[in-house]
Amino acid sequence: MRFSTKAIHVGEDPESMQHGDVVSPIHLSTTFAKRSIREVEEGYVYSRSGNPTRDALERKLAALENAEYGLAFSSGLAAESTILLALLKKGDHVIAFDDLYGGTKRLFNQVMERFGIEFTYVDAREPGNVRRAIRENTRMVWLETPTNPLLKLADIRAVAEIVHERDLIVVVDNTFASPYFQNPLDLGADIVLHSVTKYLGGHSDVVGGAVMVNDDEIYERLKFHQNAVGAILSPFDSWLVMRGIKTLAVRMERHEKNAMTIARYLEEHPMVERVYYPGLPSHPQHELAKRQMKGFGGMLSFELKGGLEEAIKFVESLEIFALAESLGGVESLIELPAIMTHASVPRDEREKVGIRDSLIRVSVGIEDVEDLIEDLERGFEAVRA
Ligand SMILES: *Cc1c(COP(=O)(O)O)cnc(C)c1O
Repeated sequence: MRFSTKAIHVGEDPESMQHGDVVSPIHLSTTFAKRSIREVEEGYVYSRSGNPTRDALERKLAALENAEYGLAFSSGLAAESTILLALLKKGDHVIAFDDLYGGTKRLFNQVMERFGIEFTYVDAREPGNVRRAIRENTRMVWLETPTNPLLKLADIRAVAEIVHERDLIVVVDNTFASPYFQNPLDLGADIVLHSVTKYLGGHSDVVGGAVMVNDDEIYERLKFHQNAVGAILSPFDSWLVMRGIKTLAVRMERHEKNAMTIARYLEEHPMVERVYYPGLPSHPQHELAKRQMKGFGGMLSFELKGGLEEAIKFVESLEIFALAESLGGVESLIELPAIMTHASVPRDEREKVGIRDSLIRVSVGIEDVEDLIEDLERGFEAVRA
């Protein structure tokens, strides 16, 4: 089966349903009755350890990343925490891309470091930087590609080849690309992670996380720890994510088409200093993007000429783009990383990776692109005034 067919059909199984439902029902029951003592360990027992709706979603998630296994978590960060807790111990070392989602850095630096896990941040655009950071106690390499908010890329295949010589685990946060545009496991990664809050859910109405893997042993450890710490997605939220995934392909096509049009418009604009979008030939890693991804996604960032004051004026004057964090929903969102999503990253660190005060991040929605461009015009006019 191909992508959209899997997205629509895996996990929905009319024949197995009592009434022939074409959509998986929401199983709210927290516990499952048995006919006899002999059966108490069989099938579903308690909803934290296993739930039919979550299972249906997990099969769908696995199918999207061509994976053996999927796991659905209560948030992207719950998924990340479980990966770290399940696979690492005190004294272990992780090499991470230096341009990560702000919440991921906070989890690493303010939570996991307290438990004796060490992190080194490198510019993973250059695979050699990952190689040079490997130590005796390195266990894991953590990539996000494209990164948030600067749309930097890591060459997943090249990094996986380097670190598999040492038997390290490669984790890829694939939230920005979505499984429609990039499949890290096929490129050699061991674990792929999504904030399903973003494109997979797609409608800004559910917070959740997902992990997909092929390795039996990694899966068993993640599954055990997910149940042990209780980081599961609820049945209702699982159902919402399944509903979202069915339209992922058509949404991603439109997100990308709109993003490409807006990126080109911004690049031509005299009041714009720079545009960051992997689909533009001016993007320094455009060739890698073409090789590694099946499309360039719906996220872009740009720097306005001027500083924070101009950027604030710009985002506050828009009427269609909502001034909001998050991304990946059908509606367009705009935000200032320096004072919103990445405010928890210290200024010097922010500047080192290239997040300036005038940087504006856009999650391009699937509205009519002419309306979006008219709205951006409004922003430029407000700055000019
Ligand atoms: C949002 C996000 C996360 C965190 O996911 P939550 O669902 O908010 O916990 C992780 N990585 C990336 C790239 C994200 O955009």
